[in-house]
Amino acid sequence: MSEQEFKRALGYATSAIDLLRRASIPPYPQFYELLYTYATGVNPSLNARINTIFREGNPTADMAETIYNEFLKAQDVNERISSVSERMSARIQAVHEAIDTAMVTANSYSGSLQSAGGDLDQAMSPKELKSLAARLLKETRRMQDTNQQLEQKLEASRDDIAALQRDLDEVRRESMLDPLTKIFNRKSFDEGLLRCIIDARANGEPLSLVIVDIDHFKRFNDNYGHQTGDQVLRLVAMTLKSNIKGKDLAARYGGEEFVAILPSTDLDGAIIVAENIRKAIQAKELLKRSTNEKLGRITASFGVASFREVDSASSLIERADRCLYAAKHAGRNRVFSEKELEPSDIAAA
Ligand code: GH3
Ligand code: MG
Ligand code: MG
Repeated sequence: MSEQEFKRALGYATSAIDLLRRASIPPYPQFYELLYTYATGVNPSLNARINTIFREGNPTADMAETIYNEFLKAQDVNERISSVSERMSARIQAVHEAIDTAMVTANSYSGSLQSAGGDLDQAMSPKELKSLAARLLKETRRMQDTNQQLEQKLEASRDDIAALQRDLDEVRRESMLDPLTKIFNRKSFDEGLLRCIIDARANGEPLSLVIVDIDHFKRFNDNYGHQTGDQVLRLVAMTLKSNIKGKDLAARYGGEEFVAILPSTDLDGAIIVAENIRKAIQAKELLKRSTNEKLGRITASFGVASFREVDSASSLIERADRCLYAAKHAGRNRVFSEKELEPSDIAAA
């Protein structure tokens, strides 16, 4: 860590402690994290919320807890899946119970009907007949009530189950995304590439792969801090995503490396896409939102390879990676494709 970054972090820490003291909020780790994040200004909506509370003049630990849970508490995907699945079982159990109750009532109703049938076989006085009719009417009402209750319970369950289904879809969608940049994660990329290779083999269409690595990103982090570095990763991810289309898939491969799978795209087409992304990244002048500090520009290097009949996913990635390495070697901020690789490199791939 550079001295500059150390000083910056210490500045945030001091502001966080000052704010906690001023608001009389206990400096527990989560509240410290909340106000440290506030001090960095990386999350404008979090800052807007805290500003409102400070303006209204009565911040409390409860409010801090609510905002912390809303903005910062990481909820594990597995935790959320178990919660959805527990709620789903509870719902199913409730539906079973409601059906059981309705069945017991229906059985007793059918018993009453049967015994009334028996009674009717014998001669009955008008009084007896009246009492039988009253009994049957009462039983019928009870049956109606139970049916109505069952209907209500089933209706509530239907709404609940639809909400659970939405939660489950959301969890599933999130498990495919990188939490920082919200583009696809490594797992989605791996699955996507295998799928695209199967398709390319089946339909004989070209398929290309672009690997992107931000140049001197370590230096950027050292100069401006990891939080600003994270913002830049989001920016690069968005730039990548907005320069591809249709069936293309952009993902964060790891750290400061990104990938784009381009189906139905040959090597020349992929080089053009990569060039466009390279230029778009280079064109962005970075500005730190919280302070308006100018952070200059960043660049990235690109490796581009196209699928061949003999390729596996890993041999294709390896060739694109080799190109990326060559782009770095040739001075960074450039696109290097497998056309430019030495034949010996290709043979070794
Ligand atoms: P090169 O041009 O050779 O790629 O240089 P580089 O500094 O980008 O490469 P190196 O692999 O040495 O360092 C990658 C750096 O990326 C290390 C780390 O500081 C940064 N990095 C990786 N993941 C993250 C992340 O999630 N957030 C932030 N802010 N930085 C990250
Ligand atoms: Mg790297
Ligand atoms: Mg790098």
